[in-house]
Amino acid sequence: MKEIFLAKEGEIALKGLNKKTFENVLMKNIRYSLSDFDVKVHRAQSVIYVRLPDERHNDAAYDRLTKVFGISALCRAALCEKDFEVIKKTAVEYLSDKLLAAKTFKVIAKRSDKKFPMDSPEICNELGGFILEAFPHIKVDVKNPEIAVNIEVREEHTYIHTGNVPAAGGLPVGTSGYALGLLSGGIDSPVALHMIAKRGVKVAAVHFEAPPYTSERAKNKVIELARRLAPYTGGVRFYLVAFTDIQERLRDTLNEHDEDGYFTIIMRRLMLEISQRLAKKDGFDALITGECIGQVASQTMGALRCTDNVCDIPVFRPLIGMDKSEIVERAVAIDTFETSSLPYEDCCTVFTPKHPKTHPKPEIAKALQENFDFEPLINTAVTNTQIMQIKADFC
Ligand code: ATP
Ligand code: MG
Repeated sequence: MKEIFLAKEGEIALKGLNKKTFENVLMKNIRYSLSDFDVKVHRAQSVIYVRLPDERHNDAAYDRLTKVFGISALCRAALCEKDFEVIKKTAVEYLSDKLLAAKTFKVIAKRSDKKFPMDSPEICNELGGFILEAFPHIKVDVKNPEIAVNIEVREEHTYIHTGNVPAAGGLPVGTSGYALGLLSGGIDSPVALHMIAKRGVKVAAVHFEAPPYTSERAKNKVIELARRLAPYTGGVRFYLVAFTDIQERLRDTLNEHDEDGYFTIIMRRLMLEISQRLAKKDGFDALITGECIGQVASQTMGALRCTDNVCDIPVFRPLIGMDKSEIVERAVAIDTFETSSLPYEDCCTVFTPKHPKTHPKPEIAKALQENFDFEPLINTAVTNTQIMQIKADFC
């Protein structure tokens, strides 16, 4: 039996003159996500048809398609010839697991090939009867069936399926510019990068490490997070910044026990400064962080004000108004939660002040930072940044 995937374009369908550009990028991204398979992809009327001649990899291919932004819904369908005997057999065979598990069904028939000898009501009646005979436990429910058996008789073939399933949505990655996301090992930042990628932005990641305070395991954890994002983003360019010298210098610059509680805030300002320089150097239009109002002491309204005036490129904070439970739900859905939950240290936690300032003032943060000339250290950090390309498993 032959199977095909039908990928529906969502928001792209609403685009005007540049719709073609969006569609071409989506086609390219679909091919990229299936690049290790022999695959046939074509488009007709806002639907992209994907078929693997070797069907052994269909489950893996389908899973990859669920991660391609720009596809709003997916449908797995059996493909057969336009012969009612074949249609009946194929429907019962292809959907047998679902029909066995369900209590009710109905048949929905669409016949765009008017030369087909049966009309839609006839297809529904005949096939409905055949299914009732083959699965004696099941009943017809036209109002609220558990399964809708769709039969679409089109020009070329007949498609048999149980309807569309919501897919990744959003816009194709590569249609909305470039952004550099600050990726820590936490739960939030991978979700933030994923959300911005969903809007068609090609995202890269920058991570700050502080060896020997932070371990190789902690670094590898963040690389693993980038690898988990890669199927959605078409790979992740990964910038690794050595932050130890700056953190130590900052610790020594602030008064002995950081009584003012500004360490984390100034550290965040320095991270943003370095990130923005990397962004400008390599042509990114914006930064992304996983900040969220009130989540921790460094994300109170006052703290956010202290970090808001560092950059002159936009800093996107897509999680800003979300609850932790909503963020966790997304992290689970995109499969980063488990990795994020590994208990390795982050450079942020290394010198955390005992009493972080919850109502810090931007002018004080700036003044404390200016007690030391960080410029040479910032330059060194930017120059020595390591860059690697993190690919999805399949590349
Ligand atoms: P996350 O779960 O994303 O780590 P968090 O709740 O732990 O967030 P913070 O540690 O306060 O929050 O970090 C706020 C944001 O700063 C992160 O979401 C991330 O964008 C950025 N960030 C923090 N630490 C690092 C790091 N070591 N490297 C890169 N970015 C970082
Ligand atoms: Mg963190």
